[in-house]
Amino acid sequence: MSLEIKDLHANIGDREILKGLNLTIPKGEVHAIMGKNGSGKSTLAKVMAGHPSYEVTGGDVLLDGSSLFGLEPDQRARAGLFLAFQYPMEIPGVTIANFIRAALQARLPEGEELEAVEYYKNLYAQMDALKMPRTFTSRSVNDGFSGGEKKRCEVLQLAMLKPAYAVLDETDSGLDIDALKIVAEGVNTLRSPDTGFLVITHYQRLLNYIVPDVVHVMVDGRIVRSGGKDLALKLEAEGYDWIEKELLATA
Ligand code: ADP
Ligand code: MG
Ligand code: MG
Repeated sequence: MSLEIKDLHANIGDREILKGLNLTIPKGEVHAIMGKNGSGKSTLAKVMAGHPSYEVTGGDVLLDGSSLFGLEPDQRARAGLFLAFQYPMEIPGVTIANFIRAALQARLPEGEELEAVEYYKNLYAQMDALKMPRTFTSRSVNDGFSGGEKKRCEVLQLAMLKPAYAVLDETDSGLDIDALKIVAEGVNTLRSPDTGFLVITHYQRLLNYIVPDVVHVMVDGRIVRSGGKDLALKLEAEGYDWIEKELLATA
């Protein structure tokens, strides 16, 4: 069981951004992608979400062997994929409680109703575990949230939806250390044999809190190196230039 990205090519307009990307995330593992700004990390997340601005020109993304392409974004979610974005959407007028409830309801077979009492019991238990005040549920999704509150909302969605695969595109800048820790604690708590995580970050510091099983480096729309936590530490210490030099030398 895995999330398998095979020779993925994608364009924005007529510009190719993903240039043959290969990556396999087995269920139960946490993988991280690091890469310089502009290397195509967010493009990968958006292509997996089915964002209409991106055109897939080759390759495939397989969720436990079935292609994501051809599925609408909501069908991808139902198939077990969860995506959290670098710039989360604000949804004024829709409370968090109703938003998550609708997402769970959408996964049920036609005609089956989510049991409300059971739902709220579960929601409050997850919120208690995340130390979120009850008042949080009646606020609109991401509307006026601080960075840390957006991250708590993201982790609450993860905890409630229990996706088979979660792709988290974490912000490059402006996220304080407390918000990073919230995401990291969330991922660490939800780490299990039933979920595969892909954590996308520009920021090695996140990986001090989430220790990934595998670190991948993205350069110009491809994964060019994979390794353990040491690779993230080397990138933090030395930057990306050495990889680019090695790539040129072997080209
Ligand atoms: P990263 O997340 O690694 O910083 P992105 O995936 O955001 O990289 O961007 C990859 C490349 O695609 C960059 O050169 C960026 O300028 C370009 N790009 C991203 N979004 C758009 C867009 N909507 N229109 C045109 N170019 C874009
Ligand atoms: Mg960027
Ligand atoms: Mg990005």
